[in-house]
Amino acid sequence: MMLERDSLHALHRALAKLEAGFASLPAAKNTAVDAQAMTEILLGIAERLHDNFPYFHPLYAGQMLKPPHPIARAAYALSTWINPNNHALDGGRASSAMEREAVAALARMFGWDEHLGHLCGGGTMANLEALWVAGQLHPGTTIVASSQAHYTHQRISAALGLKFESIPCDRYGRMDVTALERRLIEGNVGTVVATMGTTATGSVDPLDALLELRTRYSFRLHADAAYGGYFTLVDALDREARSAFDRLGETDSIVIDPHKHGLQPYGCGCVLFRDPSVGRLYKHDSPYTYFSSAELHLGEISLECSRPGASAVALWATQQLLPLERGGEFAKMLDSGLEAARALYNHLRRDARFVTAFPPELDIVVWAINASSVSEASALARQVFAEAAKRNLHLALAELPLEFFDLDEMQRDRETITCLRSVLMKPEHLDWIERIWEILDRGTESSLNG
Ligand SMILES: *Cc1c(COP(=O)(O)O)cnc(C)c1O
Repeated sequence: MMLERDSLHALHRALAKLEAGFASLPAAKNTAVDAQAMTEILLGIAERLHDNFPYFHPLYAGQMLKPPHPIARAAYALSTWINPNNHALDGGRASSAMEREAVAALARMFGWDEHLGHLCGGGTMANLEALWVAGQLHPGTTIVASSQAHYTHQRISAALGLKFESIPCDRYGRMDVTALERRLIEGNVGTVVATMGTTATGSVDPLDALLELRTRYSFRLHADAAYGGYFTLVDALDREARSAFDRLGETDSIVIDPHKHGLQPYGCGCVLFRDPSVGRLYKHDSPYTYFSSAELHLGEISLECSRPGASAVALWATQQLLPLERGGEFAKMLDSGLEAARALYNHLRRDARFVTAFPPELDIVVWAINASSVSEASALARQVFAEAAKRNLHLALAELPLEFFDLDEMQRDRETITCLRSVLMKPEHLDWIERIWEILDRGTESSLNG
């Protein structure tokens, strides 16, 4: 069976237990459900959902898409029978407590015993809050991020009315420290965004060097670890990535996306602040403030108001099953992806039909097709992408700077190169990597000879 169903049995039992807890209430009728009409609609949806790439399958190795853990799916569904709202304790006491525990576990993963933080819709909202706080603490200054940082930073800065500038990358896709220092010398930089795993190539910005610059130029340091954050648990990182992750706790704020690598359904990002006193910046005096408890309401430290308690319950459940331990079972799942990326990179590197970039720092591999010119290589990448898809292997395409690749004699007739990209996020990818390579090999052969 390809689509997991065992969790449905556990869900059934848990639902019965949930209902038993409300047994003292007088019976109230459910809204009538027309089972037949509902089934027909659901079957229609199942039909429509075929119009997707098979994200759950190991041969889907394209974009950043990873199936949620069955326990996350079941816990999310279970809590929707209550449908708690983590805006306020009135809307969800148990799920707010679970959110606090789950978020504290994420903060501890980065070495923070004390923090302020909460879940939000995703990495975009989480980064928006981090930059909103940064902008209030350093008004009138500029935010900088690398040219490979997620485009959301520029857009968020515009939405917040904050100045934003981009800093060039080195040939490894990391923020160029010399270029950053040159910009810092010009002055008025209030915040530097370090990307801990870029979206295109999984490159990790040199955090040690950025922290060193902070001692001399004093700026706020925000880490966008939306993609890469969980890799701090992995022992097998290369030396540079390891030393960057080891110092993540010295930044001022961190964003991590449980819906990227944390096995959660979409709608689960997280923002963390090292200094809990930034909570004062969220202060409001809404006429609807909730006085039922002296405890802090999550809605008082979040820009979003209504939020799904279900997300918190799902994340909490997943962390119970797979604790965030260095070298633990969850970490081994990430390690498999890294191993798979290294194995694919080694195949590509030894094969004259391909041009590789730098070795993968996380679980993302990018490569180009060898050709006489960049435009020809770009066209071939599109062909290989299509030929692989015909054989059920789903890769991604990326448009990257030429400097990332060892292009040798290739004629540089374009400013960027279209290359292939594979995000090997699923632990099963390691077992499937030879199969993936075989299909890529055949797809490439027919593109080059076709
Ligand atoms: C995915 C990603 C984001 C955006 O997060 P969403 O969850 O898609 O809103 C921001 N930064 C990085 C580095 C990312 O990989």
